[in-house]
Amino acid sequence: MSQEKWSAVDAYLCDSLIPQDTVLSEALRDSDQAGLPQINVAPNLGKFLHLLAQIQGARRILEVGTLGGYSTIWLARALPEDGRLITLEYSPEHAAVAKANIARAGLSERVDIRVGLAVDSLAQIAQEGLAPFDFIFIDADKPSNPYYLDWSLKLARVGTIIVVDNVVRDGEVVDAHTTDEKIQGARAAVAFVASHPRLSATAIQTVGSKGYDGFLLATVVA
Ligand code: SAM
Repeated sequence: MSQEKWSAVDAYLCDSLIPQDTVLSEALRDSDQAGLPQINVAPNLGKFLHLLAQIQGARRILEVGTLGGYSTIWLARALPEDGRLITLEYSPEHAAVAKANIARAGLSERVDIRVGLAVDSLAQIAQEGLAPFDFIFIDADKPSNPYYLDWSLKLARVGTIIVVDNVVRDGEVVDAHTTDEKIQGARAAVAFVASHPRLSATAIQTVGSKGYDGFLLATVVA
């Protein structure tokens, strides 16, 4: 199977199942024009996150890694009127693009963008008493995955859903001797979750417009 085929199937599935959405396509357009890297989730993963958050009945969502706010919009749209999403972004430039995209989506009231190192923002969120979150999406600097998972558990309740993106990385995740920090980060996420007594998890490999990768899905059980 080839990338060409994966992209064609993704295009078919997205065209069939995900209606054209001006807000989301303009968010991607403006992110591109601002020079942001195209490392947002694919539309079908965005919709998957949206559906998961809806199934969960999430009222409080935490996202680590905002970029231009593409996944943020998908997730925030799953919230009820009085729901809240906090998203963490290190780069002020990325956060500024996300802020405009989220405003155009009519979601500014529901979304709080915290600019700075995620580890600092997570400590601040704990201090402000904003936990527990019902749904947590981890998609930032991959070497920090274990810190984000550790914080997620502090900010979670029994039943919280945690998704960690990019844990397969072209299948390189099986390389125990890798020197690539991103792959080490993927392995660290798997190892953390596998050994943690409060988590029950699985991971799913994906192919599509974004190549060959996958995500980890965990729920807090104790
Ligand atoms: N979730 C976004 C989406 O699908 O639209 C994509 C997020 S992108 C993969 C990762 C983002 O995390 C980048 O915008 C990057 O600037 C940000 N980031 C990297 N290191 C960070 C850190 N230490 N704290 C907070 N954000 C960080």
